[in-house]
Amino acid sequence: MDTDCLLFKRVRGDRPSHRIYEDADFVVLLTMYLVNPRHVMVVTKEHITHVYDVEDALYTPLMVLVKRMARVVKRVIAPLQVVMEPSGITNHHVHVHVLPVHSLYDRMPQNVMERLLAQPVPAAERVAMACDLATGMK
Ligand SMILES: [Zn+2]
Repeated sequence: MDTDCLLFKRVRGDRPSHRIYEDADFVVLLTMYLVNPRHVMVVTKEHITHVYDVEDALYTPLMVLVKRMARVVKRVIAPLQVVMEPSGITNHHVHVHVLPVHSLYDRMPQNVMERLLAQPVPAAERVAMACDLATGMK
């Protein structure tokens, strides 16, 4: 187990956190860097690096808890939408953000969205991408 892992320390209580829920396999914590108020993350107690490496037996209850937490956030503050997003770019420990958003740009910076709209990926490139991934599914 990676004992230097920041999320592992927060799960164990070695680092401060605002704990919303806990069971045998998961904790729900208020996110350190809140994109919006009540932005939380569902974290596995076990140190697992990538969400796609979570065993199916744990993945299903993880996502059920994520959905449950999203419904709580929706009910408590009625945002435009609740985004559920696995992460792991900086913290290599499975966690899924449950993020209330109030506008499109809460999740995607406006300059990125404007660039995507101004410079769409050409159709031929889209076809090639879809073919690569469809082949990978076989
Ligand atoms: Zn960890």
